[in-house]
Amino acid sequence: MSKSDEPCCPLCGRPFGAARNISRHHLIPMSKGGKKGLTVDMHNICHRKIHATLTNRELKLNYFTIEKLQQHPEIAKFIQWVSTKPPEFYERSRDSKIRQAKRKWKRR
Ligand SMILES: [Zn+2]
Ligand SMILES: [Zn+2]
Repeated sequence: MSKSDEPCCPLCGRPFGAARNISRHHLIPMSKGGKKGLTVDMHNICHRKIHATLTNRELKLNYFTIEKLQQHPEIAKFIQWVSTKPPEFYERSRDSKIRQAKRKWKRR
């Protein structure tokens, strides 16, 4: 296997790195009937960004493909930003990031 066969995140295109970086996203949220639908593996940080940016309703109606997610202005900006970071970035910065995300979540 060559290096280019390394699995990559479909959202940001970076290699996954360690297995603990990976989480599974339902393209149609489970609560919106996507339980048996398509899933994609992506970085924890990329997955978190999707759910911090979009509601399950928006995901089901407009953002049920990776291409559409990548076209969302907020997520496009995130992809540009995260593409400069190493795959392990999320794990190292985990604590402060999670606290920030939780605070944000409550405000919505
Ligand atoms: Zn990613
Ligand atoms: Zn998800």
